[in-house]
Amino acid sequence: MKHTAKFTVTAAAMACAAACWAADGTFEGVEQGHNDEVKVQVTVSGKTIKDVKIVGDHESPGVSDLPKAWIPKAIVENNTLNVDSITGASFTSFAIKGAVEDALKKAGLNPADFQKGKKIPYTVKVPAKSQADVVIVGGGGAGMSAAMAAARKGAKVIVIEKMPFLGGNTILAGGALNAADEPLQEKQKMSEGQRKMIQSVIDDKPRNKLHEELIGKLKQEYGAWLKAGKQDVLFDSPELHALQTWKDGDYEANLRLVYNMTKKAPATVERLGKMGLQWNPYTSQYVGALWPRSHDAANYRSGIGYINTYTDTIAKEKLPVTVYYMTKAESLIKKDGRVVGVKATGPEGKAVEVRAKKGVVLASGGFGANVKMRMKYDKLWNGLLDERTGTTNSRAITGDGIVMAEKAGAALTGMGYIQLLPVTDPTTGQTIATCEGTALYVNNNGKRFVNEMQRRDVLSKAALEQPGGTFWRMCTVKNARVKNGVTVHGLAVESLIKAGKLVRGETVEELAKKTNIDPKTLKETFDKFNAFCRDPKNDEFGRPSCAPNIQMYEGPYYAEPRKPSVHHTMGGVKITTAARVVGKDGKVIPGLYAAGEVTGGIHGKNRIGGNAIADALTYGNIAGEEAAK
Ligand code: ADP
Repeated sequence: MKHTAKFTVTAAAMACAAACWAADGTFEGVEQGHNDEVKVQVTVSGKTIKDVKIVGDHESPGVSDLPKAWIPKAIVENNTLNVDSITGASFTSFAIKGAVEDALKKAGLNPADFQKGKKIPYTVKVPAKSQADVVIVGGGGAGMSAAMAAARKGAKVIVIEKMPFLGGNTILAGGALNAADEPLQEKQKMSEGQRKMIQSVIDDKPRNKLHEELIGKLKQEYGAWLKAGKQDVLFDSPELHALQTWKDGDYEANLRLVYNMTKKAPATVERLGKMGLQWNPYTSQYVGALWPRSHDAANYRSGIGYINTYTDTIAKEKLPVTVYYMTKAESLIKKDGRVVGVKATGPEGKAVEVRAKKGVVLASGGFGANVKMRMKYDKLWNGLLDERTGTTNSRAITGDGIVMAEKAGAALTGMGYIQLLPVTDPTTGQTIATCEGTALYVNNNGKRFVNEMQRRDVLSKAALEQPGGTFWRMCTVKNARVKNGVTVHGLAVESLIKAGKLVRGETVEELAKKTNIDPKTLKETFDKFNAFCRDPKNDEFGRPSCAPNIQMYEGPYYAEPRKPSVHHTMGGVKITTAARVVGKDGKVIPGLYAAGEVTGGIHGKNRIGGNAIADALTYGNIAGEEAAK
């Protein structure tokens, strides 16, 4: 490892180690983090650590921000390595400390000398009792959207957040937000397969009055579109978005809630744009999104962009929002049938009580990381969702809000519907996409096995049936979701390759060799798929189109091993279109609101990819505004 000391460290000196000498200067250290190596530069003088700088890392944005800011500072201020790790970011925390230790060794110092004394704790101050107009449980996408909306309406807001940082699952997500957006979508072509998809929604037998109304509206809009000669231009509308969401959730959702979301999602996109989020100038189609209406940020990686945009706006507009970090909401306080506050456990186990003058908003996410709840409620996966199945979720997502709401009398809906994301890393269950979501899926025998643009439940079931229970997602290097050697989730491609999480082949033959697939079969698979891309008709698996950036015309190629893991829980607290929580008696519970993954009734049996963020941010906004009334 290269160092930048004033001294040249010779092999002899290294062998001599701490007992012989200790050098002043700046030394580099390195340690493996969550995603990749973390590199630091440590300046020492007279056995004192003067400075620690992180000079290279690919840790996840949002999750790693706090350890990267606090740990180096705590080490220098206390001249010790014995500092707390940050809950929820322990890999990054250990990596920073490990890298500093490595640098100290290179300086000829003994790291054990810096481990003595009491551990420096990371903690925050939270008052035992406080009051606000609106209290929000959970600072993920829904919670921060609600916080901003309520504060913009003049409410004083307190957000109670279990973790030491904001973001929840929202910052771990790819970041897609579905909304019908004619100007952007008009730039894309509409294929015959896509026209058939619209027709199938129009031909659906109406199941209720609203369904009939929406089909009628879509017929009109689409009829006018075709009449204007736009049959080859991609069509979309909030009605098509609603009808697809409902149909592909097997009609199990509440269509009124669905349509409320799809009608208001375009305003969510516009609002965030005005707040400074730069949208990519195109829409794409995430895994299981069924239609290319997914928006994502150009100026941020993954879902962190949403959280940062909310916190930046709150700061810029000086909105009265306070976050109580490391504070876990435990129960709702009710008085005369109305929810008037939250009881919580604060930092260091201290009791915290927050009273709400106007309302409490539950925005604590689903229960994807709670194995017991998964097993208790699952109705789709036949006992598969125990520890054997990983999750993409943050460890904080344990269904707390659902349990609290139920105890306070709330009705639950759709609890048995749990979504597996088909395309996660087989060892960690995380989403570390290098290829586009709907890129080519190839099994271990070198064959395609599914229409990659299908619903997530269909894809996951198909994936679980493949030999070995895993498959490969393949794409060309040119079309991968990589900028400057880094994937959309912030991981370095070279490290993924080194860790065996990604394979690169210059030619089909090399890719086949590295994935243990028969080269002839793989070549046939690519050739057949490319023929479909050149003339997107009659795909053997019914794929409707060869979306941009999917074709496999020429190498080099990537292949990433994939396996399904628990991603989203569709069930939760029952709400109205005004985000008010409905009780078991069918009446709203005064003072209680909910938004995001903690709620049920919006996605039915299967959630469309890119609808979770549309739901969380849109209903978050509604809940915030309503609670502030
Ligand atoms: P959504 O997409 O619905 O906003 P997220 O998963 O993004 O859901 O965010 C949920 C947030 O709620 C996370 O930041 C999580 O740490 C927080 N949370 C979960 N349970 C509690 C709890 N009991 N008290 C406070 N915060 C919680």
